[in-house]
Amino acid sequence: MEEYIFNPVIHLKDKKMPLRDATLIQLAQKRRLYYKICRECGSRNAPTAEKCRKCRSYNLRWKKREIKR
Ligand SMILES: [Zn+2]
Repeated sequence: MEEYIFNPVIHLKDKKMPLRDATLIQLAQKRRLYYKICRECGSRNAPTAEKCRKCRSYNLRWKKREIKR
């Protein structure tokens, strides 16, 4: 399941994705709402990330939002 975290297709096209991938959408939504953001460069990181994958900074903050549906 971890490989879906940074799938750019899901992030960019989840609004247009057909309903047949409802499970995938749900997963993507969850992943999209629960991740860490680097305070240094602003890039998204995995929920399990200890440090930024771009600038290697440990200055990460949680991104948490409620699902609006
Ligand atoms: Zn960073």
